[in-house]
Parts: sequence; structure tokens; C-alpha cells
Amino acid sequence: MSEQRIPLAGVIGDPIEHSLSPRLHGHWLRANAIVGHYIPMRVVNGDLEHVIRTLPKAGFVGVNVTIPHKESVLRIADTVTDRAALIGAANTLIFRPDGKIYADNTDGYGFVENLRQGAPDWAPDTGPTAVFGAGGAARAIVASLIEVGVPEIRLSNRTRARADALRAEFGPRIKVFDWTQAANMLDGAVTAVNTTSLGMVGKPDFRVPLDGFKPGMVVTDLVYTPLRTHFLDEADNAGCITVDGLGMLLHQAVPGFERWFGMRPVVDDALRQAVLGP
Ligand code: NAP
Repeated sequence: MSEQRIPLAGVIGDPIEHSLSPRLHGHWLRANAIVGHYIPMRVVNGDLEHVIRTLPKAGFVGVNVTIPHKESVLRIADTVTDRAALIGAANTLIFRPDGKIYADNTDGYGFVENLRQGAPDWAPDTGPTAVFGAGGAARAIVASLIEVGVPEIRLSNRTRARADALRAEFGPRIKVFDWTQAANMLDGAVTAVNTTSLGMVGKPDFRVPLDGFKPGMVVTDLVYTPLRTHFLDEADNAGCITVDGLGMLLHQAVPGFERWFGMRPVVDDALRQAVLGP
């Protein structure tokens, strides 16, 4: 009789001690009485490939990947999904029984599902989206906005060249605004997103004027420390529908958990409390 292995998954990064993923997956394992474990692993650059090739032999069914390895894992994987290739980074690896490594990027999925849950009437295809920032996270956001049919994506970044590069890659649906003109992106927008790190604990404040926020606009911030940012407070004050960034982190974890542990987990208040708790 073959031995039934307990499925193991985890998150690889450097540093890793601040990752919320172990709490998140730990909650789902407990809440669903699944026999399995999810482990944080600090792995330095030079060890990445060796560790990834060894983990399946130790009973791992997959891992999440975070900074600084999200780009380099694409070179190690045998199969890369179209969306991970387009974004140029992966956050979820699945170790297949045949020994092949499959890499996906679920950040854009998490972003969209978070808005669908937090703003059920969100109709992204009915008007422009304003995107502040063109860093690593913005690539996944832009790709997912195109996927859900946003007709015009207005993009502005302090370093304009990064926004221009995204336009060159993602096409004419993207309109680049100079950072000094970023406030104008809000004019008539249906959705607004902060993908910069501005407003995060320890980072500078978000200082772009936000008087273009209008009632009914759906506004989200990728920053989730703090949960309520200045960007979201201003949007609330203007009567917008606001959705915080923690939900994106929670939703992006769903596809990985489902593939590794065989059941689709739910994102609910109990999960938020488990992740935020002491
Ligand atoms: P990144 O690649 O380092 O990009 C940082 C972005 O912030 C760039 O657009 C950068 O502009 C801008 N920025 C930084 N300092 C600035 C300043 N003083 N003035 C104007 N712009 C400034 O980081 P990332 O991976 O995209 O992450 C961005 C944020 O999203 C982080 O806070 C991260 O924690 C959060 N995030 C959240 C989730 C989630 O699940 N909620 C997922 C991914 C990321 P330049 O190009 O000019 O430097």
C-alpha cells in the first residue's frame, strides 16, 4: 500500500518574516479541517533553483513566491501561464505529479475579485480607469483591467518612462499622463487605483490632489498597511465606493490553495480577522 503524503505548501522570499500568507493559508487549512501545512521559507537568490527543484521531493505540492524571486522563477518553471508571461512575474507555483513546475500570476485575479466582492455593482467596462503608479504591481493590474474590458486605462508614474514602457507593451488603450498632471486622470473615471507605495507605513504620503473623486466612483488602494489610507479616506469623503487592498492579497491566494489542497476556500470576515489578528 502506498503511503499517503501530507500535502505541504509555503511561501518563498527574502525577507519572509513579514509575510501574511502563512496566517492566511493556515486559517483556511484549519477552517476546512484539511490535513496539510503551509510554511514560510527564507531563500536567498543563489539557492532559489536548487530549493525549488528539491521541494517536490520533500512532499511539497507548490509554493507562493514573493520578493525578490517573482521574476526569476519564470526561468525555472516548465510551463508559464500567458498572464504570468505577460506580467513578467509569477507568484504561484504548482509542482505537478509528473515533476513539471507550472507558474502562474494570480495578482490580477485577486485585484479583480476583490473589487467584485467589495463593490458588487462595479462596471469596469463603462468608463476609464485611473491608475497611479507603473511599478511591478501595476503590470498585473493593467493586464487584468484589459481582460475585464476597461475601454481606457489612464496611467501616471513619477518616472514617466515606466508608464511609457507599459503603454508600448499593452497598447493604445493606455493613455499616459505626466505625474504633474496625474490628478486629471480622475476626470470622468469609473475606477481609480493607487498602485504606488505612497501612503504605506514608512513611505511618503500620497500628495496628488484628489478633488476629482466623485460619488459612485469605485476606488481601491493596493497599500494595506494601514488598511485605511489617505487615498481611501479622501475617496470615502467624496462619496466613492472604496475597497481596501487587503482583499487583493486574500483573493490572490485562492487559486493556489485550491490547486494544492483540493478545495476552493472562501474569502470572508473570519479570514480577514485571522490575517489581521494579533
Ligand atoms: P514597486 O515595483 O517598487 O513600485 C513602486 C511604485 O511606487 C512605482 O510606481 C514608484 O514610482 C512609486 N513610488 C514610490 N515612491 C514614490 C514617490 N516618492 N513618489 C511617487 N511615486 C513613488 O512596488 P510594487 O511591487 O509595484 O508595489 C507597490 C505597492 O503595492 C506596495 O505598497 C505593495 O505593498 C503594494 N502591493 C499590494 C498588493 C496587494 O495584494 N494588496 C500586491 C502587490 C503590491 P517610480 O517608478 O517613479 O519609482
